[in-house]
Amino acid sequence: MAIRLYNTLTRRKDELTTIEPGKVGLYTCGPTVYNFAHIGNLRTYVFEDVLKRSLARCGFAVNHVMNVTDVGHLVSDADAGEDKMALGAAREGKTVWEIAQFYWDAFRADMKRLNLLEPNVWCRATDHIPEQIAMVQRLEAKGFTYVIGDGVYFDTGKLGDYGKLARLNLAGQQAGARVEMTEGKRNATDFALWKFSPKDQRRLMEWPSPWGVGFPGWHIECSAMAAKYLGERVDIHCGGIDHIPVHHTNEIAQAEAAFGHPWVNWWLHGEFLVMAAGGEGEQAKMSKSSGEFLTLEVLVKKGFDPLAYRLFLLGAHYRQQLAFTWEGLEAAGHALARLKKAVLEWRPAYTNQSPIAAHKAAFDEAVQDDLNMPRALAAMWSAVKDDAADRGALYATLLDMDGVLGLGMAGMQQEALAISADRIAALLAERAAARKAKNFARGDEIRKELAAAGIEIMDAPQGTTWRKA
Ligand code: AMP
Ligand code: ZN
Repeated sequence: MAIRLYNTLTRRKDELTTIEPGKVGLYTCGPTVYNFAHIGNLRTYVFEDVLKRSLARCGFAVNHVMNVTDVGHLVSDADAGEDKMALGAAREGKTVWEIAQFYWDAFRADMKRLNLLEPNVWCRATDHIPEQIAMVQRLEAKGFTYVIGDGVYFDTGKLGDYGKLARLNLAGQQAGARVEMTEGKRNATDFALWKFSPKDQRRLMEWPSPWGVGFPGWHIECSAMAAKYLGERVDIHCGGIDHIPVHHTNEIAQAEAAFGHPWVNWWLHGEFLVMAAGGEGEQAKMSKSSGEFLTLEVLVKKGFDPLAYRLFLLGAHYRQQLAFTWEGLEAAGHALARLKKAVLEWRPAYTNQSPIAAHKAAFDEAVQDDLNMPRALAAMWSAVKDDAADRGALYATLLDMDGVLGLGMAGMQQEALAISADRIAALLAERAAARKAKNFARGDEIRKELAAAGIEIMDAPQGTTWRKA
């Protein structure tokens, strides 16, 4: 089955062709493990998971490689600022190695809760220092590098097509105008391949190299590890849109300079999750280095099912910006409950029927059209509403769609319909406050919301109690 994808490199939607027919080599930029992933980061990983599942549905065998950035890179993209890993270690009184392990484990726990498939290969930057040094040496041998006071740099002026991914207007980029200019850099867009440790101090993470003790630049790890595990030509490389102008642009520059030929055929980028203005989370900026952000754990603590967050994300196309709102998440939670109800009702009728062709076709068409999940969900809901059809076949239809949606339908259980006790307590407290403020409309809304989740509430002089309806 063919699939059409939007390629940032060509700015076109085209049918995917791969280097080896039926196979896809996929590289996705992984987490920087000095803090928890925020729900914005997780949007990008959910998009990549939908991509993987969709490719599999279309008959491709996917070899997925994801890196773990555990080297202490610098807070700013411009090879300057503080070391993120060292900041994490100082904040928590742990070693940088403990910090990396802890947040990588936390990331994998989030992946599990969101039903994200594990990559075939996980690779840590600190386990691949020799590969990164070898790639810098290769660039050096070809004359693409120069050494200045604080490190070895890539000379972007030596490449005719530097910036082609982002379509950067290089003439308009005055040296030092927007990017802080390191002394000795030849072009504003030049970037560090290897940074030297400060002369007077030992860094928490540093390694010897032919140029001196130091640590790799941020971009080199992805190209070096992608080459090791996927070869020097790659089908698809993904990340969030923020990676287009710097990280992916520099990855292309160094990889194509080193290999001497085009490197990645398809670049796919996920749009950002932003905080909706006026919402409760307005202050929570989506910035990992500022330390202010929403995590999956916060959503769970508020009583939401992580898969409700996944369903919320699927409601927007991956190339469209999405504003996070609690109301939106709540609506996704209700939708998930409705879906579970159908799944549980129809499951007993399932005796190996095939999916219903018309629903399946509508769903596939959406998947094949650049992973159009809003349309795929619409196809799923029309199956849910099709109660005249054979129930066992409807169950088969939903289960088949879940191969892409990843909402855990096969594992849905009766008790999963129930709302968590924490969430009930939070809603009852909110209702009590609303009633006290004579906002009876809100009080009624909450009663209805609980009723929809199968919870009946009883008001009495000594307070409000609840039971399963
Ligand atoms: P990081 O761990 O900071 O390297 O980011 C991990 C991934 O999340 C990268 O692919 C980023 O492009 C992506 N990302 C960062 N912020 C957001 C956001 N607000 N919405 C969606 N993706 C994001
Ligand atoms: Zn990367």
